[in-house]
Amino acid sequence: MNPASERPIALVPKASREQAKEALETAEHAQPEWEKLTPLKRASFLLRTSQLIRRDKKRLALVLTSEQGKPLFESLSEIEGAASNFEYYAEFARRIEGDVLPSDNPRQTIMILKLPIGVVASITPWNFPSATVARKLAPALITGNTVVTKPSSNTPLSTIELVKLMDEAGFPEGVVNVVTGTGSEVGDELVTNPITGLITMTGSTDAGRTILSHASAHVPKLILELGGKAPFIVWHDADLPWALKCAIWARFWNCGQTCICSERMYVDERIRDKFVPAFVRMAKQLRIGNPVESGIDLGPMVSKEERETSKKFVQSARDEGDKIIIGGAAPSQLDKGWYFEPTIIEDVKQTSSLVQDEIFGPVVPILEVDSFDKAIDFANDSKYGLASYVFTRDITRVLKAMNGIRFGESYINQVGPEQLQGAHTGFRQSGLGAEGSRYGLECYTQLKTCYVDWNDKPSLPYLFPYGNR
Ligand code: NAP
Repeated sequence: MNPASERPIALVPKASREQAKEALETAEHAQPEWEKLTPLKRASFLLRTSQLIRRDKKRLALVLTSEQGKPLFESLSEIEGAASNFEYYAEFARRIEGDVLPSDNPRQTIMILKLPIGVVASITPWNFPSATVARKLAPALITGNTVVTKPSSNTPLSTIELVKLMDEAGFPEGVVNVVTGTGSEVGDELVTNPITGLITMTGSTDAGRTILSHASAHVPKLILELGGKAPFIVWHDADLPWALKCAIWARFWNCGQTCICSERMYVDERIRDKFVPAFVRMAKQLRIGNPVESGIDLGPMVSKEERETSKKFVQSARDEGDKIIIGGAAPSQLDKGWYFEPTIIEDVKQTSSLVQDEIFGPVVPILEVDSFDKAIDFANDSKYGLASYVFTRDITRVLKAMNGIRFGESYINQVGPEQLQGAHTGFRQSGLGAEGSRYGLECYTQLKTCYVDWNDKPSLPYLFPYGNR
């Protein structure tokens, strides 16, 4: 469905469990030969893929916008991110390094190897349907794994287009497979089938929890990149004009549907009267409309269901007596499309659902705080721990935030997105493992330690009656 027109744009197969199993078997069959290629040879396919993505970037961005709803300039930047992921992980071809360690015994060498895991099942969400897939496929493939990938049912087209380009790039048959269908059927088969050696899933914490429990039957490795509830702290000594621009971007980017989006703001009470009205003024100026048109800041939300979720959050704020300063509804001037106005809410309690649960839409609660320590405590009072933002020019506060805010990412005096060389990882219920960086790469490998004895006359290192007889 195109979320701007509410009309279907393509028909995609709804695969069965049996077809998901076939895809896993195909990937399993192709894996040993893929592993035998040198990493440099594997990298050549990744590099070719990144070139093809760049060649087709305008077409791919249009596909992305038409199924997901983000403005075209955001789609172009996401497509560039997908190409960069293939390039970045290709660079690791000569750096999948093990260790050589000194032994406690004479003439013994200990080596730790990093081996492929086997078949990787990749399960992705709809909010970044191109970049999240690339961020999983590239490290999985360079390390010698083969892949079955399942996109979100809301946005299957970007993945299909990407995998077609990988085919054109010459990946051997069976190395990359895509299966479209629901999480509860296709996804669950990928999770529960023992062929899967590693599940790498990005999505909601609820789905992550189900995957964790269903996977327990065969104990695969897991990377889970789950929900977020990023705090945005702005202190009186910040560069306020800059902090305001960043606050707008951090919340309304991709219509608020980004895991690292600012989901709650903590504003120093000394600047509340200056900061909040300016923030509201800027939010009012955002242009909402058809995401393929130029000059649009906010497209529609991805689906009617997601818009309903935002509406429910606003209703619960009303029920609790919070102050809705702007927004709270679909814009009246647009009669088609799942649009939702930028919504700012004040007088919200730290314990309310608006502050504790992931909204994932263009709705932001603002809380006034009277001490920096309290802002940090409020930030940490969350089941989520993905991204966080702090704006202050005081070095002591910067260091306090770096050490005290228990989140996988802190953006200090800046906004995201994350970079390839940073580790994208969540504390608490925001996930397991990491993506991006060499730490992310390592999650796609299996450690193996080898002890090699090169004594001419080997002897046991300690007294063992049998060995010394
Ligand atoms: P979702 O509903 O959890 O779905 C994510 C993927 O998981 C979809 O492909 C879905 O399939 C599949 N799935 C759902 N239940 C499953 C199950 N029991 N077994 C196997 N697969 C299953 O998430 P979403 O609504 O697409 O995406 C939004 C969420 O993703 C937000 O919570 C956001 O914070 C999170 N996110 C996190 C990150 C991060 O890096 N931490 C990045 C982006 C997004 P179907 O939907 O097709 O059924």
